[in-house]
Amino acid sequence: MFTLAIHGGAGTINSSLMTPELEAQYLHGLSLALNAGKSILTSGGSATDAVVAAVVELENFPLFNAGKGAVFNHIGQHEMDAALMSGSDLKAGAVCGVKHIKNPVLLAKAVMQQSEHVMMAGDGAEAFGKMVGAEFADDAYFHTDQRYQQWLDIRDTDQFQLDHSAASNKKMGTVGAVALDSHGHLAAATSTGGMTNKRFGRVGDSPVIGAGTYANDATCAISCTGHGELFLRAVVAYDISCLIEYKGYTLKEACDLVVMKKLVDIKGEGGLIALDAHGNIELPFNSDGMYRASVDVNGNEFFGIYR
Ligand code: ASP
Repeated sequence: MFTLAIHGGAGTINSSLMTPELEAQYLHGLSLALNAGKSILTSGGSATDAVVAAVVELENFPLFNAGKGAVFNHIGQHEMDAALMSGSDLKAGAVCGVKHIKNPVLLAKAVMQQSEHVMMAGDGAEAFGKMVGAEFADDAYFHTDQRYQQWLDIRDTDQFQLDHSAASNKKMGTVGAVALDSHGHLAAATSTGGMTNKRFGRVGDSPVIGAGTYANDATCAISCTGHGELFLRAVVAYDISCLIEYKGYTLKEACDLVVMKKLVDIKGEGGLIALDAHGNIELPFNSDGMYRASVDVNGNEFFGIYR
């Protein structure tokens, strides 16, 4: 038995502004990622490998805000963050502020498996990437016209935004995956370009273990998407794990309280994907939409964009 859930970001996803063609492209991106993770789980592979494979697909897909397609920061650069956590041994790896790593989630995996550290930042993370043979890409690789336009719209302001705005059909960004493998182990991975026009050096919740990403076989695996500052302050992923561990909440009860109440109370817009070792899957969000997909213990697939 295995389960898998993925997301391609939450936010103001307005169905009236979405064309059928664009919608089909997003769904195609999600299905590439779901299939990549599924094929590993079907053949008895680990949850860790499955979430990484799914996130690599999402990073390579230009419509999602991670890897190729990452948003621009205030000075016109792409600064990307990613994290990976394995629920069986609580090992974790993360990178933040990397600018030239083609697949930041693979570097997060290298930090987890090939270093004594959990999180590496900026130039140091890229130097480590050279050491472990990570694939590098130049600025042009990360450039997409859609993101450039989004940035031009607000670069002369102090605003920074989730990869969406109500005025135009810009979605929130970030991608992630959570999985339960046939050995009963959980894993979570998240990758993002962060928020459009963010100050350079800004790091959101995604790479922070316990905030945007968390996995523990005894409780749950979580990958978040939304307004990172609020998700950091609410320590979202670990809060859900704690509600399960210390208060005996079900996955659904814990997700509902954190996403629909605690985050809403502090205006923390966004959502997350969650699953536990019993095969439960939750995909809650308090925004208009969240690109998401899952496959349950019976092999039933689900794809969703809107509420
Ligand atoms: N949580 C991400 C960040 O704040 C952005 C997002 O999920 O859209 O960096």
